[in-house]
Amino acid sequence: MLMSKKQCQTTKRSGEPCHAAASDTGFCFAHDATKGRERAVARRNGGLQRTTPHVADVALVPKETRSIESVMMILDYALQESLALSNGIQRGRLLVSIAHGYIEALKVGELEQRLNAVEHTLQLRKAAKQQQDQSHKGRFGR
Ligand SMILES: [Zn+2]
Repeated sequence: MLMSKKQCQTTKRSGEPCHAAASDTGFCFAHDATKGRERAVARRNGGLQRTTPHVADVALVPKETRSIESVMMILDYALQESLALSNGIQRGRLLVSIAHGYIEALKVGELEQRLNAVEHTLQLRKAAKQQQDQSHKGRFGR
C-alpha cells in the first residue's frame, strides 16, 4: 500500500487509517495531541456561531422604550430570535420568561386603558356639572 508522507499516522477505531492530511508532526488537526487547545478554541467558536443566528429584524426594535407598545415590539423581537435557537431547557425557560413579559405588558396596558377611560369619564362629568352650574346661575343669579 502506498502511504503518502502527508497523511495522518493515526489508525481509527474501525482499524482504518485516518486519511486526513497531516502537518509536520505527522498527524492531522483532529489527531494531533499538541493541538488540543486549538481544537477547544475552534469548537467554542463553532458553538458561538451556531448559537447567534439573527432571524428577526433588529430595525423593528424601537430606539427608545417609553410605552407598552414599544415593550411589545421588544418582546416580539425576542420571541422571534428565541424560536431560532436550538431546542432545549434553556430555550424553554426563555420562552416562558418572554410569555411572562407579554402578560405583564398586557396587564399594564389594560390598566392604562381603564385609567384613561376613568379619567375621560371624570372630565365629562366635570364639564357637564360646570355647564349645569352656569345655566343655574343664568336662571337664578343677578
Ligand atoms: Zn487523523
